[in-house]
Amino acid sequence: MKDTTYEPVIGLEVHAQLKTQSKIFCGCSTKFDAKENEFTCPVCTGMPGCLPVLNKKAVEFSVKMALATHCQVNERSIFARKNYFYPDLPKGYQISQYDQPLAQKGHVEIQVDGQTKKIRLHRIHMEEDAGKNIHGTISSYVNLNRAGIPLIEIVSEPDVRSSQEAGAYLRELRSMLRYLEVCDGNMEEGSFRCDVNVSVKPIEQKEFGTRCEVKNINSFRFVEKAIEYEIQRQIEVLEGGAKVIQETRLWDSDQNKTFSMRSKEEAHDYRYFPEPDLLPLRVAPAWVEEIKRTLPELAKQKKERFMKMYQLSSYDASLLVQEKSLAQYFESVIEICKEPKLASNWILSELLREFGPEQGATSPVTPQHLGELLALIVKGTISGKIAKQIFEKMVQTGQAPQAIVQKEGLIQVSDVAQIEAWVEEVLKEQKAFVDKYHAGQTKLFGFFVGEVMKKSHGKANPAKVNETLKKKLVKGA
Ligand SMILES: [Zn+2]
Repeated sequence: MKDTTYEPVIGLEVHAQLKTQSKIFCGCSTKFDAKENEFTCPVCTGMPGCLPVLNKKAVEFSVKMALATHCQVNERSIFARKNYFYPDLPKGYQISQYDQPLAQKGHVEIQVDGQTKKIRLHRIHMEEDAGKNIHGTISSYVNLNRAGIPLIEIVSEPDVRSSQEAGAYLRELRSMLRYLEVCDGNMEEGSFRCDVNVSVKPIEQKEFGTRCEVKNINSFRFVEKAIEYEIQRQIEVLEGGAKVIQETRLWDSDQNKTFSMRSKEEAHDYRYFPEPDLLPLRVAPAWVEEIKRTLPELAKQKKERFMKMYQLSSYDASLLVQEKSLAQYFESVIEICKEPKLASNWILSELLREFGPEQGATSPVTPQHLGELLALIVKGTISGKIAKQIFEKMVQTGQAPQAIVQKEGLIQVSDVAQIEAWVEEVLKEQKAFVDKYHAGQTKLFGFFVGEVMKKSHGKANPAKVNETLKKKLVKGA
């Protein structure tokens, strides 16, 4: 196949919305579900004579992400005007950073097929978002609630070589932003958006091919599909003897294909120049150090710690750290039940099945309650099977496990006399099978255990049932 001689080269640009209370250059709220143009003022609607004032929190959040991705934070950076006309950009320019960004030269580690790979970051810069155009059948409208929302743009070097690597990179960035609590990562609401640059080249060729940019893709799955589509499309263009045209394309998720939107603009098309209304941004090294001390444990470090401290598998640990809140939930459960493996199993199977990773920690089943439930199993008060029934009730009612055990009389029976009585009844009823057992069909042992458990409505202590059955079956021989 000729295809195998081509190599894709992929670069990614991520726009992440910072979770500040107010916009980047004015005091307007950043709340998402507001009425049209509810949170606007002369500054973010671009009235003449208004001056922007930089939001310090937005700088702090940007520095956090820069440090987490091992970037060099520049002591001095410059805001610039990126000029273009669009109805949702009332000033006629976007305030961004151009040749002197806030941070540069970082990297992010990703894992694909068990291999760790470093994706280098070219830069992280700050900028403001534009508004939103809404097109009706007769008229079009502009909503400027979004105008002036603080963003960081994270630009990778062209180090990604496949759609899987792109997916892993984006998931890692999103996880970091969420762990740092600087961005909610909500792709549907547009707080985490991604543009991809894709080109292909013959594998032995050093120079990159002509790239196409696919803009604003709003799910990881679509990013992966769009990249795969683009790679194939560009290979076909080259194989057909034609040239790839540099352009901006859009992803159509209904047709699973990209289509041309416009020819790609270059940086010089925007006529960037320094924003005269804002002083150069100075980030004191002492402040950077202070921010560094507040950085939380990120998913990757947490996963390694979980594996070491609690002897969890890499797979289980990675599921537990996929959400910071879930990882915290897990550790709260262990504090009560003292059994990391048991806690991990229950969270990954029962809790996640009911609520999923994002809602798990805030479900009606509190970590305190789940810990107590597991402690009841450990103590032998209830069996694992009964625990599952109790868990169902906890999901529905949010009650404490002890309350449910009391109310429903679900305490495990370990009383020897009672268990012997059940065992004898079963052996009497199943005489034919007892004979077969004695004739050598010892596999029937499990069947007898099951019958006794049934008779006790699941309340008999299984270890005690085993023990008693063994004794009685030997005796009867
Ligand atoms: Zn405003």
